[in-house]
Amino acid sequence: VSSMEVLYPQQVNACVIEHPNKEAFVAWLEESQRKFQTQFQHDQRPLNHKTSPFCYLEEENGTPVFVGGCDDTLAFFRERTKTTRPTTTSPIRNHENDVDNEAASYDWDLVVIGGGSGGLACSKEAAKLGQKVLLLDYVKPSPLGSTWGLGGTCVNVGCIPKKLMHQSSLIGEIIHKDAKQFGWNISNASFDWSALVSAVQDNVRSSNFKYRVELRDKKVKYENMLGTFKDAHTLTLTNDAKKKGPVDVTFRRAVIAVGGRPRPLLYPGGEHAITSDDIFSRHDPPGKTLVVGASYVALECAGFLSGMGFDVTVLVRSVLLRGFDQDMAQRIGKYMASEECGVSFIHGSVPISIEKLKNGQLKVRHTHGEEIYDSVLNATGRYPDVDKLNLPAAGVTLNPKTGRILVKNEQTSVPHIYALGDVIDAPELTPVAIHAGKLLSRRLFGNDPTAIMDYTKVATTVFTPIEYGCCGLSEDDAIASAGQENIQVYHQHFVPLEWSLSSELRVMSKECYVKVIIDTSRKNLVLGFHYLGPNAGEVTQAVSLAMKMNATYDDFVHTVGIHPTTAEVFTSLEITKESGEDPSAASCCG
Ligand code: FAD
Repeated sequence: VSSMEVLYPQQVNACVIEHPNKEAFVAWLEESQRKFQTQFQHDQRPLNHKTSPFCYLEEENGTPVFVGGCDDTLAFFRERTKTTRPTTTSPIRNHENDVDNEAASYDWDLVVIGGGSGGLACSKEAAKLGQKVLLLDYVKPSPLGSTWGLGGTCVNVGCIPKKLMHQSSLIGEIIHKDAKQFGWNISNASFDWSALVSAVQDNVRSSNFKYRVELRDKKVKYENMLGTFKDAHTLTLTNDAKKKGPVDVTFRRAVIAVGGRPRPLLYPGGEHAITSDDIFSRHDPPGKTLVVGASYVALECAGFLSGMGFDVTVLVRSVLLRGFDQDMAQRIGKYMASEECGVSFIHGSVPISIEKLKNGQLKVRHTHGEEIYDSVLNATGRYPDVDKLNLPAAGVTLNPKTGRILVKNEQTSVPHIYALGDVIDAPELTPVAIHAGKLLSRRLFGNDPTAIMDYTKVATTVFTPIEYGCCGLSEDDAIASAGQENIQVYHQHFVPLEWSLSSELRVMSKECYVKVIIDTSRKNLVLGFHYLGPNAGEVTQAVSLAMKMNATYDDFVHTVGIHPTTAEVFTSLEITKESGEDPSAASCCG
């Protein structure tokens, strides 16, 4: 046993913690180990077993019995724990000895708080692995009263309605700016905001329904209730709107996946501003709109509204797309501000007040002036939605700097309580929450200690009028991490074939660009990929696979492209930024 602990600590721990009386079992093991060590000095080594470890067991009559090596011993204990311990948990769990009172009985093996991307994925996987799972999802209405169904931010007020509206604006662009050159005569084309919202909301409601059916099929119990911790193993559930609760439930483990909500605008009259929680379900057209903020949500909303023909201004306090590559952010800003796209930007200014006028319009005073708008859309960032959880009752601690839940591998300060998705300090993206949720369940209930979420090299796309996809480090971060002397940037401008019949002005203003940042001291390892152009999400998704496999610049340029595509641009990057040469694409077909 002693050598097994050295060689295979996780497996031995897994055996030990499954024993019904852990303390007595550990004491017995230690005592046996001493005894067997003494005995071993006098004993003959078992003839049929030539490698370490040698594992013995003291059976009831006190005679040591040779069990075998590591595999035999694990098989022995697996068999034993299966028959002696009636439990709903997997017989061999991972090394995280997380439950304080293993023998106690609880209403649920797992309660997941939050039915968004992370919570849904985690609960379904846990149920698949034999756990008795309760999923809570409750939407607190936005200050303007918007609510929605099961599925969380992504499906109701995030990625999905946003991408559908982005698509609507791309269609508008094609109709108004490109169709004629491609032979189409589309006269009298007009846009109907309310029809779009109805179609988007139909799509959302059908997803809400599908989620409910999936939970039922996968045997996850869903309750449309708000969860609040009473203590470290109890949650109080309420739904005031439906006059349900309060009711207490106990759990062996809990996962907090409550996501985030838009930060309110704390200026006089800030309550008149709508947010991304409201825009996708609002049937009145927003009209002339002021977007406050320069986050990706701000620029995406400004972009699709402008593409639909609304007069849009963005009020920017400091930089566009903080946290993203600033060279790329400026290129996006330049295109959005161009005559072709037509978004106005007011830089270096913040709101002072919003006054609602008698006709319903909003008079906005900001540090650089004042103006009247039909709508103000506040997109100044998001906060973690922990308010109603009563985390102190459970003992879960927050990061004082960000207000998000502190975790290590999703485990909070309370070992049997976990957190994931937008509520922790991780990239705020749906696939991140989904992946982390699935892996956590596999780790906890599927006996897979290797199922650990890797938060690096996560690709993402900003769906602005010119789309931006990226993976890995920004140019500034790459320089900071590898040193300027080791960084080389290959870049290129390009014109997608799809645009080649469009007006020259349109093509010139909508500048497509790609850059790959490499570390020359690590065999030209690609540290960052940045792409500005059509279908950025599709292109970047594929590149992220290569980067995850540590692709180098040579791998990129030795890849044979698909012609004619925009993605093929990364297979022919030959001009470095350092060289100062013009990075415009050469002729298209050879
Ligand atoms: P959420 O999906 O937010 O789910 C949390 C759920 O928990 C919510 O339903 C909430 O109401 C509920 N809840 C909160 N408190 C309680 C409680 N006490 N009891 C019960 N239930 C509770 N990501 C991308 O990858 N791509 C995109 O293109 C993209 N676009 C976006 C566009 C917008 C406008 C926004 C706002 C976000 C976008 N995101 C995008 C981000 C993505 O939506 C989030 O990263 C993702 O939804 C986070 O999932 P989650 O499970 O952490 O939380």
